[in-house]
Amino acid sequence: MRSRSAPVTAGDGARVEDLGDDVLLPGLVDTHVHVNDPGRTAWEGFASASRAAAACGVTTLVDMPLNSIPPTTTVAALEAKRAVARRSAHVDIGFRGGAVPGNVPALRSLHNAGVLGFKAFLPPSGVDEFPPLAPDRLETALREIAGFGGLLIVHAEDPRLIDGAPPPTGPRYADFLASRPRAAEHEAIARLIALAPALDARVHVLHLSSADALPLIAEARREGVRITVETCPHFLTLTAEEVPDGATEFTCCPPIREAADQDALWAGLAAGEIDCVVSDHSPCTADLKVGDFGRAWGGISSLQLGLPAVWTAARRRGHTPHDVARWMSTGPAAPVGLDRKGAIEAGRDADFAVLAPDETFTVDPAALHHRNQVTAYAGRTLHGVVRSTWLRGRKIADHGAPTEPTGRLMERQARP
Ligand SMILES: [Zn+2]
Repeated sequence: MRSRSAPVTAGDGARVEDLGDDVLLPGLVDTHVHVNDPGRTAWEGFASASRAAAACGVTTLVDMPLNSIPPTTTVAALEAKRAVARRSAHVDIGFRGGAVPGNVPALRSLHNAGVLGFKAFLPPSGVDEFPPLAPDRLETALREIAGFGGLLIVHAEDPRLIDGAPPPTGPRYADFLASRPRAAEHEAIARLIALAPALDARVHVLHLSSADALPLIAEARREGVRITVETCPHFLTLTAEEVPDGATEFTCCPPIREAADQDALWAGLAAGEIDCVVSDHSPCTADLKVGDFGRAWGGISSLQLGLPAVWTAARRRGHTPHDVARWMSTGPAAPVGLDRKGAIEAGRDADFAVLAPDETFTVDPAALHHRNQVTAYAGRTLHGVVRSTWLRGRKIADHGAPTEPTGRLMERQARP
């Protein structure tokens, strides 16, 4: 971006790239990506996911511990993932561990092996091999994780309130929405807020969909509770009102809610009450997106579209590229301690996304690098074309085409 302060002079021997009127952003950090590799590679793999990331300005990707087989709940499973990922990493890749019933003894060794926090589910996850934690097990896992200074990231929906809601069935989105009440999010987040300070723990709320919980989180933070929260491009750009019947490419949990929630989430971002925006890219094969909301796989595919989707809505609401960089690069890097990522400054990696902010394109799923061409954004015209992506000073994608894979696998950085 054209600087408003004094022009910067390149040092001796520095390479100069003229970006014209394009905007230079710090490389995006997407800490919520389900790569599914190994085991469900037909859904997504490290090669395809990291190509999609590079094509769209994401230079750091953090993989979720579930939907791959095995899930990342042991050090052996982590090493199995790393073995696959290192073959074709187009961007830097880190890994979350999983906290599931019975793996408390493995948590510290996963932490020592470098995972960037632990994910737990309160409701069922959608896959049998990654069961949720009941309240007593949640407390035990969180106590263990707090003991070594780790981070617990939580799918925060209360299972009892979901069980008490009408089950989803059929092609109507309104029925699906009613099956995942906002009170379930509120209740689960309230429980985390009560638990974290009691155990001197640090927690992170994944994919906030209901803005109802924002005042609760803001109040807890004012009182010193160590809680961070993310939301996702689909909650910021798509609304329940516009989901056509049977359009299960829009299904995820918690669900896309009404426009009023979306407005409140934007207000939360603007106020700094929401820390970051990450994709929750959770793809599947097309056959699992049947037209019945009770049976379709829940997950939205958006890794390669996060930046233009968010930027399109952000600019309409009067936000700047600086805001987007804060939400999609600086914000996600901080809770996982990725001190070399998340900003353009001396001492950090030279990771960049070069964005043409006023240019538009229409989403053609067939043109995406995702393994499967199913996405809720199909046919939408978005602002913001990523011209190039740079990782540690080397161009890793040019006009959407990834170059040679030069990504590295990342481990948690020890804090002083
Ligand atoms: Zn997810």
